[in-house]
Amino acid sequence: MKKRTFLKLAGAVGAESILSPLLAAGAKSKVTEKLKNWAGNIEYGTENLRPAKSVGEVQDYVRKTGKLKVLGTRHCFNTIADSKDGFLSLADMQDAPVLDEAAKTVTVDANMTYGRLAPWLSERGYGLHNLASLPHISVAGACSTGTHGSGEKNGNLSTAVRGLEMVAADGEVLQLSQLKDGETFRGAVVSLGALGAITKVTLGIEPTFQARQWVYENMPMEAVKAHFDEIEASGYSVSLFTQWRTKNVDEVWIKERVGGAKQFAAKPEWFGAKLATKNLHPIAELGAENCTEQMGVPGPWYERLPHFKMGFTPSAGKELQSEFFVPRKQATEAIFTVEKLHEKISPHLLITEIRAIAADDLWLSPCYQQDSVAIHFTWQQDWPAVKAVLPEIEKALAPFGVRPHWGKLFTIEPAALRSRYSKLPAFVELAKKYDPAGKFRNEFLNRNVFGG
Ligand SMILES: Cc1cc2nc3c(=O)[nH]c(=O)nc-3n(C[C@H](O)[C@H](O)[C@H](O)COP(=O)(O)OP(=O)(O)OC[C@H]3O[C@@H](n4cnc5c(N)ncnc54)[C@H](O)[C@@H]3O)c2cc1C
Repeated sequence: MKKRTFLKLAGAVGAESILSPLLAAGAKSKVTEKLKNWAGNIEYGTENLRPAKSVGEVQDYVRKTGKLKVLGTRHCFNTIADSKDGFLSLADMQDAPVLDEAAKTVTVDANMTYGRLAPWLSERGYGLHNLASLPHISVAGACSTGTHGSGEKNGNLSTAVRGLEMVAADGEVLQLSQLKDGETFRGAVVSLGALGAITKVTLGIEPTFQARQWVYENMPMEAVKAHFDEIEASGYSVSLFTQWRTKNVDEVWIKERVGGAKQFAAKPEWFGAKLATKNLHPIAELGAENCTEQMGVPGPWYERLPHFKMGFTPSAGKELQSEFFVPRKQATEAIFTVEKLHEKISPHLLITEIRAIAADDLWLSPCYQQDSVAIHFTWQQDWPAVKAVLPEIEKALAPFGVRPHWGKLFTIEPAALRSRYSKLPAFVELAKKYDPAGKFRNEFLNRNVFGG
């Protein structure tokens, strides 16, 4: 897509989010239509949504309110963002980002989407280390759940956070920085929205870069098993897509930085897979119009690192998602453990994506102190069927100490989940410090994190 078209679409999407019935109705504080998440599978527990236009308004609302949740771009598939009491929306806070070229950072309003930030940054000569599969998500919402892209050397998006501005439960504004606040900062970045209302996020930036991607079709599973490390090391970001229907991985997407240290020599055949001769959707049967340009055509980083273009419905649209993180060193064992369940998985699946993510030091990150591989499932929107198959996947992956994506669907028992996060008790203490009465907690957080 041409840059001008992208910007027009990005702008249109931004305007739409400000003018959408959801937020326009929020001005009256009560809306008549039901509030739902992006996928439409979660109807939120209240329609009481309050928009804030300034940090002062956020402080007022937080001080006056007994219980609330901050809503981002509503892209989580579970009830992590839900509330029965009231929502605060920061979508109307859209100040221009602030660059600090000396510190190599950009500070943005919390609800800014990556789709709006990325071209703005690129025009000024900067980029971000990575993006998720779609640019439509808010910076604060993504970083609060440990949202990630792919690439064995790339930490998740939260690892780019250098600072946070947050309104705590008492209405006071806190500034936390990676440089000054050490462990507290590392506890506060992947916060699941439990510490306060984040009003600004400061992200680390780097010089802008060009990227390109190739897609290979039909790589034998046995080649994946034998050469997994080599395949993962071949690109800046690598994704394996499969429906588990054949003994092949359907597609392998390889993204590389143009002029980077390691260049991918795209041969017609690679580990038994064939180089695609046209752009493809990860679900091969779907048209590729909403996918980013492939076939090795160089383009700005923000038009190649996500799989889906801004301005189009990302992914499949009507869907559910789950994702499970396992240690990178056990990746192939875990992948083949899931493969054994293919007869139960495939009938309900749209696509699986397998990605590598580098270890980090953020307390509630699914990649905490562990290079990881994430096995993702985009499901048909049939919750009873998905709910039946998830426990089987989770049980099979339990020996790997599996951690679920915080924003996607899972059924792992809270005690098991908590046992897989060594820093969870410290996080609970941190939450008590900033939010002693549990103002920002909801049922999801009480059940899975706070244990009550
Ligand atoms: C089509 C699709 C593709 C996806 N692709 C990926 C992917 O490639 N990789 C990946 O890891 N995930 C992916 N996700 C999941 C998604 O990125 C995460 O769930 C992310 O958290 C969504 O951000 P959001 O702003 O929409 O969050 P919301 O759902 O609005 O909120 C999530 C959490 O963040 C909190 N929150 C949001 N804003 C604030 C704030 N300002 N202050 C305090 N708390 C806040 C909320 O209270 C809630 O607890 C995808 C989702 C969809 C729908």
